[in-house]
Amino acid sequence: MRNLRNRLFAIALTLLILLSGCEGLLEPKPEFVGGSNLTVEFIDVGQADSILVTCEDETMLIDGGNAADSDLIYATLKDRGISRLDYIIATHAHEDHIGGLPGALEYAEVGTALCPVTSYDSKVFDDFVRALDEQGVSIIVPEPGDTFSLGGAEVEIIGPISPSDDPNGTSIVIRLTYGKTSFLFTGDAEREAEQDILDAGYDLSATVLKVGHHGSDTSTSYPFLREVMPEYAVISCGAGNTYGHPHDDLLSRLRDADGTLYRTDMQGTVTCVSDGETLSFSVERNANAQTNPTKLSAAETHYIGNVNSRVFHRPSCSGLPAEKNRVTFGTREEAVGEGYKPCGICKP
Ligand SMILES: [Zn+2]
Ligand SMILES: [Zn+2]
Repeated sequence: MRNLRNRLFAIALTLLILLSGCEGLLEPKPEFVGGSNLTVEFIDVGQADSILVTCEDETMLIDGGNAADSDLIYATLKDRGISRLDYIIATHAHEDHIGGLPGALEYAEVGTALCPVTSYDSKVFDDFVRALDEQGVSIIVPEPGDTFSLGGAEVEIIGPISPSDDPNGTSIVIRLTYGKTSFLFTGDAEREAEQDILDAGYDLSATVLKVGHHGSDTSTSYPFLREVMPEYAVISCGAGNTYGHPHDDLLSRLRDADGTLYRTDMQGTVTCVSDGETLSFSVERNANAQTNPTKLSAAETHYIGNVNSRVFHRPSCSGLPAEKNRVTFGTREEAVGEGYKPCGICKP
């Protein structure tokens, strides 16, 4: 009896040693060396996503904005002197994520291209595949749990966990860690995809959260946010977009999470630099913008009308009238009651 117990103990010990040895062999963790930086640039591509990540001498582009952003992506890479992208991540097949990638591929040579699908019925997707073909690169569909290093940073694929008919649900979700700082990039993943990742038990904690789906209410649920607990959040969306992103309820959830919010619609390109310990943010414009003010009280402005055109707007609209032509309304009903018509841009 005692012998058997000893033998079982020996077998278990051997297995444990073997397993820990294997792990070290298969997934060498990148070595974090102080004294260098990770830069994450949330490029202002309007109602779309494009994030350029550089760590030491390695680079990764997560999405490329709309097809109309191709020139901007080309110019950005040229300006930064980035003629090689070690990784391109096309989070999902929607145009506002892959449309501008041909611009990147025209300027830079790509190492590995990741996308949740290898084909999709759209011209922009075909253009993306053609641009990759010209470099002899094929799309790789990653699996949750896959890891790779980017300079001294470690990148882990944590989603999608299960298939989805909705392209947003196929979004590649990645967590990047650099020293003591971490980033979560969620593409357009929505609640169901978030729940899958929660159920899978991944570590979601992140210093910086790229808010899902341009600040839609269908993403960034409370349970997800509670696991991420970001100190900073970034929303990539277009000023006065027709989707009403970012959604008021999502903004309210972010306020509860108590982090600092940056927004490309208000502040242009948002750049974050990490030295592995601390982060510093810079923005293209409006550094002091109220990116997430608490809900306005009844006494404060809800809607702004133009006394000449008799059109009313949200206070965030890009088409607000000159100060002298403004009238304010506490509620939508009040504006409509006065005979004002809703603006076609901000759709109040
Ligand atoms: Zn999108
Ligand atoms: Zn999408």
